[in-house]
Amino acid sequence: MNIDEIKKELEKDLTLAKNIEDLNNLKNKYLSKNGIITVLYSNMKKIPKEEKKTFNLKINHLKDYFNSNYEEMKEKFEKELLADKLEHEIIDISLPSKKIKRGSKHPITRVVEQLEDSLLSLGYTVFDLDELNLNKEDEKIKSLVEDNISINKKSLQVIYPLETYKYNEEKNKFSQNMQLEGLVIGKNISLADLKGTLELTLKKVLGIKTKIRFRFNYSSLGQIALDVDVNCFNCATKGCSLCNNGFIKVADAFMLYPSFLENFNLDNKIYQGFRFNFLIDNLAIFKYEIKEDLRLYENDVRFLKQFDRKDEENEVK
Ligand SMILES: [Zn+2]
Repeated sequence: MNIDEIKKELEKDLTLAKNIEDLNNLKNKYLSKNGIITVLYSNMKKIPKEEKKTFNLKINHLKDYFNSNYEEMKEKFEKELLADKLEHEIIDISLPSKKIKRGSKHPITRVVEQLEDSLLSLGYTVFDLDELNLNKEDEKIKSLVEDNISINKKSLQVIYPLETYKYNEEKNKFSQNMQLEGLVIGKNISLADLKGTLELTLKKVLGIKTKIRFRFNYSSLGQIALDVDVNCFNCATKGCSLCNNGFIKVADAFMLYPSFLENFNLDNKIYQGFRFNFLIDNLAIFKYEIKEDLRLYENDVRFLKQFDRKDEENEVK
């Protein structure tokens, strides 16, 4: 087959691809070790010297043609898949408090509620960002700050749950992640306030004996960000398949950039603040000692019942 014929076949194959699986089969057909385009490259050595350059150029074009179509179609199929999933499958699961009404509560719901209780007692207000009719998270946060900072003598202490979706190519599916974010703006807010908030909240939710580890990152501009880990329940910090060297990451946070505050006409010499983000899935895994995180999204009553018992045990202690 010559290159022009291959191009025609490829065009036809692309029009017939209807999902990500089809696309991956095409990638295999054309670009795997024995794929059609790969074989063309290895045929190069048989081509007469004076034709090599043209031949090489043609294969490169063919490969680019494949790759650009592949990326474009992949993005389209992923979007369709997500839209379909949002419409049909995610109705029953675990947004905090409003979706699971009766029966045993899901570990995700439990952790969100416990975090919210703890943060409410520190003076935080809970917001539902989904109620703001805006597309991007940045826009929502901007609107949240603008609407609330002025009424409260220019200070803000809010938390808001967020759901994020990540596409896993290997499993050909989306994984859902639940987060609880917080934002604080006020006068004389320091890193000590941020650490104190995280430590107090984590110990209240996970138990007083929990070991908390802060890992700091300082950017060249002097900005401070931190990752927050707790000791692994499974291996007594020896290291195992569930954790990273004995610790599990449960939150990250950073001090607000001066430019963020300037957006709201706040003088960064007077006002400071921070943002934090609790990783609910990991907190639930730690708190309820769940070794298979996928089960978090099953609505199996027997699976869920065991957590009633665990919460009761914790209350007795
Ligand atoms: Zn471990």
